[in-house]
Amino acid sequence: MSFRMLSVNLSTGKVEFEDVSDLFSKYIGGTGVLSYLALKDLREDLDPVSPESPIYFGIGPFNGYYPSASKAVAIFKSPLTGNLGESHAGGRFFMAMASAGIHVLRIVGKASCPVYLSIKDEEVKIIPCSSLWGKTATATERILREIEGTKRGKESILRIGPAGERLSRIACVTVDSSRHFGRHGLGAIMGSKNLKAIVISGNRTLRISNWSEYQKLYKEIFDILAYSEVSLKYRDLGTASNVIPLSNTHSLPTRNFSQGFFEGADGISGEHFADEYLVKQIACAHCPIGCIHMGQLREMFAEPHLFRTVRTSYDYEPIFALGSNLGVSKAEEVLRLLSYVERQGWDVMSIGVTLAWATEAFQRGLINTTHTNGLVLSFGDAQTYLKVLGNISKGATEFYRDLERGLGFCVQKYGGEEFAITFGGVESPGYMTGPAAFVGFAVGVRHSHLDCAGYSVDQEFFGKASDPYVEVEKLYKESLWRMVTNSLVTCLFARGGYTMPLVLRGLRVLGVEETEESLMRKARIIHGMKYLLKEKLGFSFDSLKLPEKLTRVYTGRGLVSHKDFDDRVKLYKDKIKEDMAFAQEELKA
Ligand code: SF4
Repeated sequence: MSFRMLSVNLSTGKVEFEDVSDLFSKYIGGTGVLSYLALKDLREDLDPVSPESPIYFGIGPFNGYYPSASKAVAIFKSPLTGNLGESHAGGRFFMAMASAGIHVLRIVGKASCPVYLSIKDEEVKIIPCSSLWGKTATATERILREIEGTKRGKESILRIGPAGERLSRIACVTVDSSRHFGRHGLGAIMGSKNLKAIVISGNRTLRISNWSEYQKLYKEIFDILAYSEVSLKYRDLGTASNVIPLSNTHSLPTRNFSQGFFEGADGISGEHFADEYLVKQIACAHCPIGCIHMGQLREMFAEPHLFRTVRTSYDYEPIFALGSNLGVSKAEEVLRLLSYVERQGWDVMSIGVTLAWATEAFQRGLINTTHTNGLVLSFGDAQTYLKVLGNISKGATEFYRDLERGLGFCVQKYGGEEFAITFGGVESPGYMTGPAAFVGFAVGVRHSHLDCAGYSVDQEFFGKASDPYVEVEKLYKESLWRMVTNSLVTCLFARGGYTMPLVLRGLRVLGVEETEESLMRKARIIHGMKYLLKEKLGFSFDSLKLPEKLTRVYTGRGLVSHKDFDDRVKLYKDKIKEDMAFAQEELKA
């Protein structure tokens, strides 16, 4: 297989294609290849929103060939944390990249006016688009589709909303109708480059030499993914089905992580969303699971009776962030907040967790109505939260402008660290299952629930005695294996299908010979490279802390102490240090 990198410099207009097949043979693809490039390029003194700050998008060898290998990876220096920024998104982007024969897209520089990048196979254009500046993420997609004359299914459109233009550190990049490079503030980097959008399409045919073996394997993987019990759950109610079970096990963050049980969970459950608001289930390209759920709302846009219909995708994370964690118990209100967030282009988890902190800060008197322009923040008051979002988007006061700089910034300025729920500088994901989840958020390469699935480890230990060694071993193994799947780049919801034997067969059919040993060796190198990069940018295991408030709330596994957290972090650190040393040796060789 051969792989290419397209580099675009927005300052000079220079465009360059380069063969990077050797990097794919060393580091598999996706997150592996991008981590190697980022380790070379990113520095501690690099301003993430400066022209020289690079954005890397990448896909892997499975994209375009196998079902649910439907994601692309973005790596960059995070404006939110100043450390490694990594985010994954589905939609059609991976397919458009594969069809254009571009496996890594590197963007640097800054355009002199707002532009979008148009890539059609070999044709790369930087097109001025001042009239799109200020448009919402949703409107931008609609307009670009008309301008470019593209058809749904062939191309992919990435864009930022006004939040990215304002360089909000929690701005996301929206992909196609409903996917996101959500976390770590990638939207701000695109905004800083005057890059409103990327439109990409290609017409290449992907080649298979061993057709009969490919068809056989394809069907095998397809059948596992399409018909397994887990896939049916994702397709039916989606991840929103987690709301009730998590609440029932005291694991659903409620009112800024004050408790894990939400008395209003029924009103925001996956079942209720489906019964009342679900109008469509869709899928990323080439995915038989189809976990995306679109809810529909009627919105008034002018008095007295002019309405429009708004469709917004929902799943568990937005429901926790704008529902239980804000004390909002009506699905319709969650959808309304979500639709606003979607148009502005914020990362929903970051904005939700920041709003929850702001509410508690208001209750404790750290901020008052002078800061909020007269609004009284209280949990459950969705109408006021909608006004708050409006004030943030208008930059109505200094406080509102600060809120979209993320929770870490707000805490430094206003205090309230003891009830600020962040890990590694990132607003927390929505799981209060116990110590494994918290440690996983803290030590994970992305500070995400998707790094090592600590919530699953906790669930295995519900009602049982703790065993930090076993728990940490499970977290580590999961994180290491995800170096493989995130390099291929498959969707994590398809992890049941992509076992080691199937991955090895999948690679062999594409002409790539690996053994279990050689693949896991590469996984260790990638793992080590990521932490080398994180340390280079200032990360330290020793500075990781369990947010004080989380020591006082009952989780799925009861109370979690600082000692529970610190002991596990220490065990994890020892394992990672070995991977870092291993990667360092391999990089020298
Ligand atoms: S399972 Fe869902 S998120 Fe994953 S590729 Fe399929 S539709 Fe996309």
